Amino acid sequence: MADLTPTPSNPGLHVSKPSPSAPAQGSAICHCGATATATGDAQVAALVQGYTDNHGPAHNKEQGRR
Ligand SMILES: [Zn+2]
Repeated sequence: MADLTPTPSNPGLHVSKPSPSAPAQGSAICHCGATATATGDAQVAALVQGYTDNHGPAHNKEQGRR
């Protein structure tokens, strides 16, 4: 199992929560070059939402429309 942290050559979204009392941590790297990181449950939720809406699969919706 490889490291799940996204990199420019392996774009994606990664969220981790080390322990129930620790803030969630998230990082996102899109194949379009956008990168973002967030710390804190609310911030990570916003990161995931924004990435989902504007990057990753969203690019396919716009560019792969037929
Ligand atoms: Zn993107």
